[in-house]
Amino acid sequence: MSKVRTRFAPSPTGRMHVGNLRTALYAYLIAKHEGGDFILRIEDTDQERYVEGAVEIIYRTLEKTGLIHDEGPDKDGGVGPYVQSERQEKGIYLEYAKQLIEKGEAYYCFCDKERLESLKQTVAGKEIIIYDKHCLHLSKEEIEEKLAAGVPYVIRQNNPQTGTTTFEDEIYGTIEVDNAELDDMILIKSDGYPTYNFANVVDDHLMGITHVVRGNEYLSSSPKYNRLYEAFGWEVPVYVHCPLITNEEHQKLSKRSGHSSYEDLIDQGFLSEAVINFVALLGWSPADNREIFTLDELVKAFDYHHINKSPAVFDMTKLKWMNGEY
Ligand code: GLU
Ligand code: ZN
Repeated sequence: MSKVRTRFAPSPTGRMHVGNLRTALYAYLIAKHEGGDFILRIEDTDQERYVEGAVEIIYRTLEKTGLIHDEGPDKDGGVGPYVQSERQEKGIYLEYAKQLIEKGEAYYCFCDKERLESLKQTVAGKEIIIYDKHCLHLSKEEIEEKLAAGVPYVIRQNNPQTGTTTFEDEIYGTIEVDNAELDDMILIKSDGYPTYNFANVVDDHLMGITHVVRGNEYLSSSPKYNRLYEAFGWEVPVYVHCPLITNEEHQKLSKRSGHSSYEDLIDQGFLSEAVINFVALLGWSPADNREIFTLDELVKAFDYHHINKSPAVFDMTKLKWMNGEY
């Protein structure tokens, strides 16, 4: 088997929520348990969601918790993370989108706002646009002409409309979607930036990621990622989706609730070691029911096959108890 390589791929959109910290921790543990590499990649291609200062919070949190990444471009004499906006400037994502165009797996779309508006339909109470493949049928000459005239465009994936796409997750099992539900999703936006899904798949492949660890909010869109791997003919990584984290009332933890970010917890007087120990057990059960671990002990004990499907409850009493044990 090839060397295990995992990554933490946060979008800098705010604070380091415990859910994000858990994703980073599990990715780190899966890699280190096997003597593999842990990579940090900042997914900042969505200009609208970018929050000033969020990247610094991510670096600070990873440094304080000891979740140190293994490789990346040089930065101030140290090992920086990979940053997608820098990779975008090198033209990496556009180059790969063009490869898909060559293979007939993607195409230029020049449709304007009005035309897209006219495709809007209401599905399950939501207004969505299912693209009708209009631009797939443009001739080579028409495309050349529009490109030369500087008509704005996006690049869309040419997805099949019949059949099914299946997707395997280590925790949640097989997930199958009807291809009729797969839209011809946009890979490159009109501003030249890649969409989040596309950049994510291209980079996971280029960085040799063997295990993709992320929150289960991505589970339902995962078949789309699979379609991209299929289109490129790339090997699909192992997927490990982590369970939802709820508060004690079994509601999804909200970003507003005071106990949900790492730095809030530290400000409230919790020790970093206790927070990491607590977060490790949010959705993972060690074989021997032990409860107190250092990071090194977690590395030894962590087996991702024992991640739970059911939501994990953020139990403040437990965190307080653990904090007293250090
Ligand atoms: N950039 C995504 C996020 O911040 C991560 C998704 C992934 O890990 O694949 O939530
Ligand atoms: Zn179009």
